[in-house]
Amino acid sequence: MKDNIFRISVCPRCGQTYTSPPATARDGSGPICPDCGTREALESIGVDAAEQEKIIDTIHRCQRESGLGR
Ligand SMILES: [Zn+2]
Repeated sequence: MKDNIFRISVCPRCGQTYTSPPATARDGSGPICPDCGTREALESIGVDAAEQEKIIDTIHRCQRESGLGR
């Protein structure tokens, strides 16, 4: 049998479920979802919360578009 089951994880930060490879929290608190990983990265370079959400929204839109393009 092929082991191609999607691994569903729950992000401890935002509580959303995700199937993509997890990001590592900078404070070492364990795997978090890619969105929170992006938020942390942006925060570390001084991007404020409102701007972080805008950037994450843009990333999601790109992912949806590339997913539909198959
Ligand atoms: Zn999260």
